Amino acid sequence: MNDAVEARHRKAKAKPSARPSREQAEEAVRVLLRWAGDEPEREGLDGTPARVVRAYEEWFAGYGEDPTDMLQRTFEEAGGYDEIVLLRDIRFESHCEHHMAPIIGRAHIGYLPRNRVVGISKLARLVEVYAKRLQIQERMTAEIANTIDRVLNPHGVAVVIEGTHTCMTTRGVHKSQATMVTSRMLGVFRDHAETRQEFLSAIDLRGNRGAPASI
Ligand SMILES: [Zn+2]
Repeated sequence: MNDAVEARHRKAKAKPSARPSREQAEEAVRVLLRWAGDEPEREGLDGTPARVVRAYEEWFAGYGEDPTDMLQRTFEEAGGYDEIVLLRDIRFESHCEHHMAPIIGRAHIGYLPRNRVVGISKLARLVEVYAKRLQIQERMTAEIANTIDRVLNPHGVAVVIEGTHTCMTTRGVHKSQATMVTSRMLGVFRDHAETRQEFLSAIDLRGNRGAPASI
């Protein structure tokens, strides 16, 4: 590749692609309907493109939100509290970036405050912001932990996510019971086995209970 071509490629890559119009998005849904083998013109599918596009606005609302801002606006002084703050079983719905298929799961977040805490609903909102984007579970886990670490500067952060990937349960290898578990441990949760263990026993991973899939 010569220099001029390479420069053009770089430029094309750096330029954020313009957001298509609602009409263009609906037209794209009609193309997929035809691709699936149906006729977008038939009565039952009349409102489908518009509904799919509205659903996308909900499923991918996370692109319009800044998670750092959200946490920054809301922290408070911890008032001497120096034990683990834990929010477990935060249900989320996301979509895998490889198939755009739903990932349904639960996130568990723990942190050991240094001097700042956030309202627990903000932790749930943080999960939501990252979930409502195209994701891979590993990255989502790291993003949540890193944002808490950066904004609250705690002694440590622990994030565990359990997810069922419908691209794997409903197609491909069809493993309907498989759950993926990912974790990111920072600070004391990474360095001290005891603190990590306290967190892991508190979150009660589904596998430990031996219960059937409830998510
Ligand atoms: Zn996938």
